[in-house]
Amino acid sequence: MRPVAAGRTITRNTPDTSSMALIVQKYGGTSVGSVDRIENVAKKVIGYRGQGHDVVVVVSAMSGETDRLIGLAKAIDPRPNPRELDVLISTGEQVTIALLCMALEKHGQPARSYTGAQVRILTDSAFTKARILAIDGENIRSDLAQGRVVVVAGFQGVDEDNNITTLGRGGSDTTGVALAAALKADECQIFTDVDGVYTTDPRIEPRARRLDRITFEEMLEMASLGSKVLQIRSVEFAGKYNVPLRVLSTFQEGNGTLITLEDENMEAALISGIAFSKDEAQITVTGVPDRPGIAFGILGAVSDANIEVDMIVQNIGRDGTTDFTFTVHRNDFERALEIVQGKAVELGAREVNGDRKIVKVSLVGVGMRSHAGIASRMFQALAREGINIRMISTSEIKISVVIDEKYLELGVRTLHEAFQLDQAPAA
Ligand code: ADP
Ligand code: ASP
Ligand code: MG
Repeated sequence: MRPVAAGRTITRNTPDTSSMALIVQKYGGTSVGSVDRIENVAKKVIGYRGQGHDVVVVVSAMSGETDRLIGLAKAIDPRPNPRELDVLISTGEQVTIALLCMALEKHGQPARSYTGAQVRILTDSAFTKARILAIDGENIRSDLAQGRVVVVAGFQGVDEDNNITTLGRGGSDTTGVALAAALKADECQIFTDVDGVYTTDPRIEPRARRLDRITFEEMLEMASLGSKVLQIRSVEFAGKYNVPLRVLSTFQEGNGTLITLEDENMEAALISGIAFSKDEAQITVTGVPDRPGIAFGILGAVSDANIEVDMIVQNIGRDGTTDFTFTVHRNDFERALEIVQGKAVELGAREVNGDRKIVKVSLVGVGMRSHAGIASRMFQALAREGINIRMISTSEIKISVVIDEKYLELGVRTLHEAFQLDQAPAA
């Protein structure tokens, strides 16, 4: 295979079509959601081949398929055996790789499909949320050298004992970026149903604006705070291995959004975007005796059950007691509540309340580092709409608030307007 160009840069503003390159392209569920759409992807890939590029394609399951498979599993057992669940849900992607290869071959483009195990995408053994440890690129390189397009099933791998594993929802993004890193591809292109990364989810705020660029750091925050356009681990990988990463539309032409290192040509934006998460639930313990070891007593038990705690707030104690509130993923809510109820009795707390109907809305932007007053502008905008803030947490480049679920859309739109995110910042 021809050598991959050394000294890759990630400052190009347009997709790499200038010279021969190795491109990894990932197509998401909607992009391969029907036979016609798979044929459309085949034509696009053949177009890139026609420009002289080597192409490795990663595909998701057809849209809705992974949910359907999870539904089947849960119809048998609400908490299915994780190893078997991975055997089941990895099948969605296996369907798509075969169909796409058939479409490519029909149009005269030699192609070969691989499951994650066939490539040997080695992962740890954390079923349903496995992490990629190593990738053997040998077969892929040899196929590319023979003029084939290689089509790899996203979202899956294999552990040391040859068990099939999956990488967590949205995991095909991570397969794409990890393959791009392993093969030292010139660019990893994530093709989806939007034409880039927007200031917020355009389904919630139609006035959201596409960003030409966003930094790895901001994208990482956006992803970890709920923006599902890229799986968080894919952004981590891209940052760590310096993979040029771009989000593009399968259905329309354009340069999409480049995820890049920070540089002086970046938009001088204070806030890059608004992320939100509907996956949260809140647990409050009231009347807890205010003494050392209480936080550990409650949260230690939750963490022993492998439940991740997100935001935590402890009120100032009064009359020897205090209140303690935290959030967990909604999927863990019932289990966490049960554990905390048990602990509350032990610790002599007055009451435990849970609320699933909350959401987290976050402002993200590297510009926050150098500007004061963003938080107060945020709180004022929400207050003007009568939106009550239940919890707040901040870090260097983000501010998150927990609000009632019913205010999600109003909250996002209000903040989008308050920070004028529909307008490009002045250079
Ligand atoms: P795919 O199936 O291609 O992986 P996803 O549904 O996982 O696609 O991701 C694309 C979706 O992400 C978009 O349709 C959009 O609704 C949502 N999304 C959330 N936040 C953003 C954002 N900031 N910019 C663009 N899309 C976003
Ligand atoms: N099919 C998997 C999912 O729906 C992985 C992916 O699409 O990225 O989560
Ligand atoms: Mg996705």
